[in-house]
Amino acid sequence: MIDNRTTELRAKLTERGIEYTTNDHMGACETSWNGFTAMQLTPSAKLIMAVTPEQAIAATLGSEINGNTSDGYHTFNELYHHRAVLFSVIVRDHRELAWKALKHHDGTMYDGMFIVGIDTPKGQATYHYDLDPYWEMFDCKEREYAPEWDGHTSDDAIARIAELGCGRKVTELCPFCGGEASVKVLEYDDDCKVYGVFCESDLQSEQSHGHFIDNYPSEAEAITAWNTRADRM
Ligand SMILES: [Zn+2]
Repeated sequence: MIDNRTTELRAKLTERGIEYTTNDHMGACETSWNGFTAMQLTPSAKLIMAVTPEQAIAATLGSEINGNTSDGYHTFNELYHHRAVLFSVIVRDHRELAWKALKHHDGTMYDGMFIVGIDTPKGQATYHYDLDPYWEMFDCKEREYAPEWDGHTSDDAIARIAELGCGRKVTELCPFCGGEASVKVLEYDDDCKVYGVFCESDLQSEQSHGHFIDNYPSEAEAITAWNTRADRM
């Protein structure tokens, strides 16, 4: 029989979206079925079996997966935080392709979250993050609505991001002397870092011939500017 204590525990399960069922053919045993995971991860179902309903429910609550669940090295919370910070750096380096929005294309959004994406040459790569503390961390243009989802999966997103890193190269030779050119970062101080593309022979000469472009906020923008410069001969 289900007593008051068990009713109370069952209410806790219901609060967390966990189903509880009894299984009569097991005789004295009852089971509780956990078809719920915190943070909407890949659904993992776990069957907890115990002699009494109270033991079954207590075991289910104790086995709940949440942000503090660890694989022995890192917790989910820690890994999600790292993912957010790492993606914010990628976004900053591809700012001209990146955007963030408080709403999906259809006007919806998960509670307390936003979406941020990069329109890579291979298609979108997007993630959702908590507004607090991540909204400010993403240094890119804000859109009222996110672009329409192109159907990308989580696997697509990370594959597209992986290609981004080497997707942009200095392809054009120096328009003045035909020499090789490369990207340089110019750090004036901690708060001021800009990028440019410089002709190698210009760098090696004692006095600059002006074979460069500079003052771009990201490497990607500097490379694009160099590859498409209008004063090409
Ligand atoms: Zn040159």
